[in-house]
Amino acid sequence: MSTERIKVFKFGGASVKSAEAFRNLARIVQTHGGRQRLLVVVSAMGKTTNALEALLGQAYQQQDVAPGLAELKEYHLQVLQELFPEQEHPVHQRLEHLFELLRHQLQRIASGSNFDKVYDQTVSFGELFSSAILHHFLADQGLVNHLIDSRKYIQTDNNWREGRVDWTWTERLVRRDLPQLLQEGLVITQGFLGGTNNGLTTTLGREGSDYSAAIFAYCLDAESMSIWKDVEGLLNADPKYFPDTVRYPEISYQETIEMAYYGASVIHPKTLKPLATKKIPLYVKSFLNPEGEGTQICDCRFVVTAPAYIIKERQCLVSFGVKDFTFISEKNLGTIFNALSELRIKINLMQNSAISFSICTDDNPEKLQLLIQTLRDQFVIHYNTELRLYTVKNYDAASINRILQGKRVLLEQRTRTTFQLVCRSQDV
Ligand code: ASP
Ligand code: MG
Repeated sequence: MSTERIKVFKFGGASVKSAEAFRNLARIVQTHGGRQRLLVVVSAMGKTTNALEALLGQAYQQQDVAPGLAELKEYHLQVLQELFPEQEHPVHQRLEHLFELLRHQLQRIASGSNFDKVYDQTVSFGELFSSAILHHFLADQGLVNHLIDSRKYIQTDNNWREGRVDWTWTERLVRRDLPQLLQEGLVITQGFLGGTNNGLTTTLGREGSDYSAAIFAYCLDAESMSIWKDVEGLLNADPKYFPDTVRYPEISYQETIEMAYYGASVIHPKTLKPLATKKIPLYVKSFLNPEGEGTQICDCRFVVTAPAYIIKERQCLVSFGVKDFTFISEKNLGTIFNALSELRIKINLMQNSAISFSICTDDNPEKLQLLIQTLRDQFVIHYNTELRLYTVKNYDAASINRILQGKRVLLEQRTRTTFQLVCRSQDV
């Protein structure tokens, strides 16, 4: 492989949601990646993935997809018109063709088919559209680039909607082709998508484009990876809930992984491991203010500058009580954990008392009913839904007071570094 190091840029849906956003993206590539070997990973435009999920749902129930499909196409064509007013431009044909393929794909869906498998073959179109547009647009701006199909590089098993990466194969394929292509110019590819060894499409989980970029960065021993977002970097809270957020200039991989575990939606959780393994720094930067410092996530000692506030919505609190006036025993806990593991219910928080055991988990009514069916002979089970889980990492007295204000707390827990509470969603 060439000794010159490679950078990987990932642009999410918001950074390609309009013609103006594409223009801004091109400027960023020009100024911040221009003279560098650069691989660009792009997500679907705006809310396209949600729209495709909706279309898939309709097709699966044999409803009419024509209006939804027309709307999605119109959105893409409008951006296309603005970026490529010239009717003869090959990009128009390319998009026509892709939309035709999507239409066929939707038509073929039978209600009994394997939903998750069909999901991947359908919802993957968003990235195919956006990457084709980006490829042509950057070329027109004088940025020589190759468009590659990430399904031919990121190899996964057929665990649909959450493809598991075959690292050996993926690394071999990436290293075989990409260093050469990167000598010749930029390389553009799709986030979120992978492929199986029999040519089917897989996806890597919602918001998985960050992960795609990290996979490429890992395989190419990249110098750095940058995620361009609509926020100034990694913040200590979601600005939707907290008006006075602060940005972390530098933070460790470990701290970021923990924040993702507690539900911070900053970075797809699988993204960090490949980067941490090779100590590849991850920059989180704002595409609205590309000159801004952003955040560097790296192999450093994290100096706490502000507590992190993390909120998980749509939580459910389930408590299991013993029926015979004895205490909750290890045997009881074993039974409960077994059932949770079987049903793949993830515990976000748990607490034990003499006669009952409680867990806070993402609200999933079907799984909850199965859990109750499995355990109701042995336990008295109560549950509450429409709850919210707050986590304050690296808390202090002020941050706890702030969180507690105006809330009826259903459950509270603190360790040396982390404070958590469950309350009703309407208590804000
Ligand atoms: N387009 C996909 C999604 O919205 C992947 C991504 O954006 O990271 O989930
Ligand atoms: Mg997206």
